[in-house]
Amino acid sequence: MSDKIKYLLEENQIPKTWYNIAADLPKPLAPPLHPGTHKPIGPDDLAPLFPMALIGQEVSQEREIEIPEPVREIYKQWRPSPLFRAKKLEKNLDTPAKIYYKYEGVSPTGSHKPNTAVAQAFYNKEEGTKKIITETGAGQWGSSLALACSLFKIDLDVYMVKVSFEQKPYRKLLMQTYGARCVASPSNETNTGKAILKKDPNNTGSLGIAISEAIEMAAQKDTTKYSLGSVLNHVLMHQTVVGNEAIKQMEMAGDYPDIIVGCTGGGSNFSGLAFPFIGKKFRDKKNIKVIACEPRSCPSLTKGKYAYDFGDTGNLTPLVKMHTLGSSFIPPATHSGGLRYHGMAPMVSHLKELGIIDAKAFGQKECFDVGVKFANVEGIVPAPEATHAIKGAIDEAIECKKNGKSKTILFNLCGHGHFDMKAYSDYFENKLAEDVYNEAEVNKALEALPKIA
Ligand SMILES: *Cc1c(COP(=O)(O)O)cnc(C)c1O
Repeated sequence: MSDKIKYLLEENQIPKTWYNIAADLPKPLAPPLHPGTHKPIGPDDLAPLFPMALIGQEVSQEREIEIPEPVREIYKQWRPSPLFRAKKLEKNLDTPAKIYYKYEGVSPTGSHKPNTAVAQAFYNKEEGTKKIITETGAGQWGSSLALACSLFKIDLDVYMVKVSFEQKPYRKLLMQTYGARCVASPSNETNTGKAILKKDPNNTGSLGIAISEAIEMAAQKDTTKYSLGSVLNHVLMHQTVVGNEAIKQMEMAGDYPDIIVGCTGGGSNFSGLAFPFIGKKFRDKKNIKVIACEPRSCPSLTKGKYAYDFGDTGNLTPLVKMHTLGSSFIPPATHSGGLRYHGMAPMVSHLKELGIIDAKAFGQKECFDVGVKFANVEGIVPAPEATHAIKGAIDEAIECKKNGKSKTILFNLCGHGHFDMKAYSDYFENKLAEDVYNEAEVNKALEALPKIA
C-alpha cells in the first residue's frame, strides 16, 4: 500500500465509453408510460423534446456506449478528475477505515454536472438544435449547461427556481457570463407559470414547476429542445465517466471499495460513481455496500412511495416509476438546492427496490458540521449537497472504529461550495432552518398520484 494521497490518470486514460447499467440489471426497469393512455411510450413521444441520439441512449441495452471524440476533447480540460485518500480525515476520526473521495469540483463550473451537459450539447448540435431550454434549482445545472452551450454555440434559456434566483445571484451571473438567458420561475412566459402566479403571486417556485415551464417552451419548435441535468437514464450514464475513472484509480491505490457513498437529489452524481462498481458486483460478484444520502426535509428514497408519477408539477412529462413525495409536493427551502426534488431517478429507485443499494437521510446541521470539519482537515469547502455524502462516509468510518474493522470507503465529493458561502454564513450564525419533513403535505401530494390500472 502506497503513502500517496492523490491518484491521477493521464489525459489519454479518460474512459472511451460510458457504462450502461441497464445491460446488467437482474430485472428490467418499469417502462415510462404515456400520461394520457398509460401505455409505454415510444421514441416518437420524446422526439419533440430530445435529440434521437439521447432517446436511443435512454432505452439502450448496450453495456458500453462510446464517448464521442469531441466530448472527450472537452472532458480533457478537467478530466480525469483526481481521486484522493482522505488521510487527514481518517486521522481526525481515529478510524481504522480507509477513506477515498473522487473530486468533481475541478470542472469549470465546480461540480459533476458538465459531464452530461457537454455530452447533451454535443448530440443536440449534431442534430441541428438551435436553442436548448432547461430549468435549474440552485443554479449548478443551469451554469453547467450554459458552459456547454457556449462551447457548442447553442442558445440557452434557463428557468431558475425563484427563491434561488433571488437568493443566489452569482450562479445566475455565471449563466449570463456564458451567454445564457436566465428567468425566475414561475414566470409569466408560460401557461404553467401564469396559472401558478394567478393562484399564488408570491410562489417561490420549485424544480417541478421550472421543469414544466422549460418543457412547455421546448415543445413549441423543432429546433428547440429540452434538457434535464439528472434523473433520466442517459444523464446517469454520462456521469459514469466518474466511476469508470475511479475503478482505474482504486487499482492504482492497490485498493477496492467495500462501501460507496454519494448524495442524491435526482441521483446522477451518486449513480456516476456507483454504477460501474455495481456493474462489477453483478458480473464479477465483487461484494459492495452502496449508500445514497439525502436530506431529511426531502426524503424521496427513504420516505417516498415507489409509484408511477409525473416528473414535473404541471404534469407534462411521461409517467415514470420512482420513489416520489408526489409531484405537487414543494420541498422546504433548504441550502442544499440540488437535493430538493420530489422524485428520484427511476434507475436508482429500481436498485433500491431490488435491495442493491441502501439509503439514509440526514439533517442540514449535522451535514454542515461535517462539511466544516472536512474543509478544515482536507482543505476543500464542499458544496452543501456534497456534505450529505461526507456525513454518510464519516458515519461508516465511525462504525468501523466502534467494531474495530478496517473497511475501504469511497465517496463522491461532487462539487465545491464556493458559490454557497451564504449557506455557510447561515450555519455559522446559527440561522439554519430546522429540518421539516411535512408528512401531511406529502400525504396530500401522494393522494394525487395518477391511478395506474
Ligand atoms: C445538482 C447537484 C446535486 C444533485 O443532483 P444529482 O443528480 O443527485 O447528483 C448534488 N450535488 C451537486 C454539487 C449538484 O450540483
